[in-house]
Amino acid sequence: MRIGAHVDPGDPLAEAAARKAEVVQFFLADPKGWKAPEARADADALRTAQVELYVHAPYVVNVATTNNRIRIPSRKLLLSHATAAATVGAKGLIVHGGHVGKGDDVAVGFDNWRKTFAFAAESGGFATPILIENTAGGDNACARRFDALARLWDVIGSYDVGFCLDTCHAHAGGEALLDVVDRVKAITGRIDLVHANNSRDAFDSGADRHDNLAQGMIDPELLVAVVRAAGAPVVVETPGGVDGQGKDIAFLRDRVTA
Ligand SMILES: [Zn+2]
Repeated sequence: MRIGAHVDPGDPLAEAAARKAEVVQFFLADPKGWKAPEARADADALRTAQVELYVHAPYVVNVATTNNRIRIPSRKLLLSHATAAATVGAKGLIVHGGHVGKGDDVAVGFDNWRKTFAFAAESGGFATPILIENTAGGDNACARRFDALARLWDVIGSYDVGFCLDTCHAHAGGEALLDVVDRVKAITGRIDLVHANNSRDAFDSGADRHDNLAQGMIDPELLVAVVRAAGAPVVVETPGGVDGQGKDIAFLRDRVTA
């Protein structure tokens, strides 16, 4: 099982080495901006590296929204990120499930997801597999609660779409971690990547504040059990840079392989 971290995009392979990470995730553009990714000078080195790579789409992307001025650019940005992620050999492009606004019908959000895949199909499909990630907050989210996730998968499951399980988001989003892998797989049939994070906040708080694995509100052994059950590559998105994430990686490696 490959274990690694979300790292600064400057030199992802050096960041991986510093943490003894076998997998890294990074952004290809400003996560809070709408700029398309620029070509990377180190694309060849990244593509041929032993380290497995994942790209996280910008946080501004919300393909589910009923707001045209966010939904349409979100579709395009997601497509351009999938193309750019392929040039560095990324195994997946992680994107949050998104949400509709207050008073909107979340069913419209699910259909907007379907249109996103249909839009991509018109230009040959996404160049990198899309992994939809569960989110922590919001009342009208497409992938916070698993009843919504099941409805989303009813609409888009026929496309080859993957899933990224974030443990902090599940806990803070109000989904118990005890049997979470089985419940997700009953819906999606797969877990492609785990974001292993502890949470600074209480169960079902709706807050999205990650913590290091051995601290926070989730029993660390429960995180280990989820990682082991998922059997997928693992990325920690925890604080503390090389030191904090390096310890989290070592913590998982010790226990998951024990
Ligand atoms: Zn995450």
